[in-house]
Amino acid sequence: MTTSDPGPRVLVVEDEPKIAAILRDYLQAEGYAVRLLESGVGAAETALEWPANLLILDLQLPGMDGLHVCRALRARSALPVLMLTARIEEADRLRGFDCGADDYVCKPFSPREVVARTRALLRRHGDGNAAQLPGLRLDAAHHQAHLHGQSLPLTPVEFRLLDTLARRPGTVLSRERLIDAAYPDYRVVSGRTIDSHLKNLRRKLQSAAPGAENAIEAVYGLGYRFRPNAFET
Ligand code: CA
Repeated sequence: MTTSDPGPRVLVVEDEPKIAAILRDYLQAEGYAVRLLESGVGAAETALEWPANLLILDLQLPGMDGLHVCRALRARSALPVLMLTARIEEADRLRGFDCGADDYVCKPFSPREVVARTRALLRRHGDGNAAQLPGLRLDAAHHQAHLHGQSLPLTPVEFRLLDTLARRPGTVLSRERLIDAAYPDYRVVSGRTIDSHLKNLRRKLQSAAPGAENAIEAVYGLGYRFRPNAFET
């Protein structure tokens, strides 16, 4: 069990302390290691030296604005950047500028949306933390899963659920968090739907390797937990 294993590192550059704190709390709850900066000055350097896996960057910053930080970073790195902007028109204008940001979120935003977009960006760019467990191989880029060399015929939702659980072995994940992970389009889905996807997922694990279904454990009233030792035969 690697509960102390730090997750992907996210640097948040945001001068409004309340927004920065909310983002930090949500990202940490998701298992990310988070650092906060209030100014754009030196932000690109910090991102590279820490090093961060992803940068969340407010556009309006004291000292050096997000546009300049992004350009300074892009000169040296392909690190994914999620830009926070105050207005939707601003985001539209910025897309045309090609400052090198990978995605934009407009304020006021839902922290869950920022977390979901962070996760999607990291997945797209490869966060170097793909689930590496005995017997299980997950290829997020192609949505392919193998258990003990056997291909698992998973739906995209099942794949994302397995990937999410396998990345946090031993940690109880709530249904709400699993819904966020399984549905990147922020769809409203009931907990029962997640239960039924997990039931199907368990059945597929079982047919690939009897006993492997025990890797997904329901924790009454809380959610689900991944037990990787169920894969060790
Ligand atoms: Ca600001």
